[in-house]
Amino acid sequence: MENRTFTRSAERVRAASSTVVGGVNSNFRMGVAPTPLVFERGEGAYLLDIDGNRLIDYYLGLGPMILGHSPRDVIDAAKQQLDVGLLYGGQSELEYRAAALIAEMVPCAERVRFAGSGTEAVQLALRLARAVTGRSAVIKFEGHYHGWVDSVLWSTSTPPEQLGPEDDPVKQPGSAGQDLPAGQNVETMSWNRAETLLERLRKGDIAAVIMEATMCNSGGIFARPGYLEAVREECTRHGTVLIFDEVITGFRVGPGGAQKRLGVTPDLAIFAKAIANGFTVAAVAGRGEVMDRLADGSIMHGGTYNAQPVAMAAAIATMDRLARPGAHDGMERQGTRLMQGIESAFTEAGIPVMVGGYPQIFTVNLGLTEKPCNYRGLAKVNKAGYRKFTAALLGHGVRALERGAWFLSTEHDDAIVDQTLSAVRAAVSEVATELR
Ligand code: PMP
Repeated sequence: MENRTFTRSAERVRAASSTVVGGVNSNFRMGVAPTPLVFERGEGAYLLDIDGNRLIDYYLGLGPMILGHSPRDVIDAAKQQLDVGLLYGGQSELEYRAAALIAEMVPCAERVRFAGSGTEAVQLALRLARAVTGRSAVIKFEGHYHGWVDSVLWSTSTPPEQLGPEDDPVKQPGSAGQDLPAGQNVETMSWNRAETLLERLRKGDIAAVIMEATMCNSGGIFARPGYLEAVREECTRHGTVLIFDEVITGFRVGPGGAQKRLGVTPDLAIFAKAIANGFTVAAVAGRGEVMDRLADGSIMHGGTYNAQPVAMAAAIATMDRLARPGAHDGMERQGTRLMQGIESAFTEAGIPVMVGGYPQIFTVNLGLTEKPCNYRGLAKVNKAGYRKFTAALLGHGVRALERGAWFLSTEHDDAIVDQTLSAVRAAVSEVATELR
């Protein structure tokens, strides 16, 4: 594989900065080395950029593109709906069918309410939990990301050394300009430490506990055996609403998400990303007893584009495919090969690495010699080193997130994974001396 160049992308991003701030439209698209990229099209597991590079893509739009970039069935379903209606400001049969599919696939989903983005769905779930319990305080965990708004952007990417003692954490805002009082009723805790959490819940004043049931955003980490079960039990005992944020894991790690795979059912769950393969769909799904509080209209939830018909048609086509027996098996196999292959490539080069998570979404953490059990365990990750690796990898035609996550699609087959692993080995040998 020859080394690719990205000069046109770099020039375009620079020139466009006169109108589009920084040349990008999300902070997650900034700081990409050697440059943020500009794309022309996507095909299956590949993206084509304006320099003429055909890149194997593991960004997958930051998670949604689980069926790859051009799934005929999803595109045809959306096209068909484009001809008959873009937005009704009322109901369509499509949203009822989409909700029924979620209810069939997801254990907690007795009722569903669609929303515009993962961030918005999280706001609804927290508002609902507060209304139902009549309590204000919410617990979230360090390193767990639930959207970019003031109320939940706490201790998400703070350097661990600024988080204070693990038993008495200091909550840190995640953005300049953040309205600090919006976090007044948010308590942050270190994840995967059952005793501290259970003790806090016993006071009986917590409206909701929200978590990524498997941590994906900061670095592929599973709950310790028994942790989720213990939290589930104690939330039930004290009337606290347990919310799993399945924006990444939902429909991706299996048809029923992380909750099905792990065998623990929350009261509410948040879905987005893989639910509609790139179309903007998000949802709160949960127990009827909790969700039905939305029906009397006393809890405000709006959104002009909620359950937008074209997006709903795409969601149905996507979920139809993901509901088929064995739909996730190929990703399971190819993801496992990748996890093992990437781990060997670094280990054989003498570079400490921990690869964690599900085959469909895993994270590579350089520089760790011990398995982390929460965000604080990621303190020693060699982020700068990993960025050098992803930049080198891009030169070999493979696009992976600088933050360590790898997303798989049904289109990543044997040949593509073989090619990826050769690129990984080439990139590792290029940067190895800097990473040891
Ligand atoms: N929760 C989790 C777990 C996420 O990963 C994300 C997005 N990365 C969000 C919430 C926010 O979703 P959105 O970007 O659709 O607002």
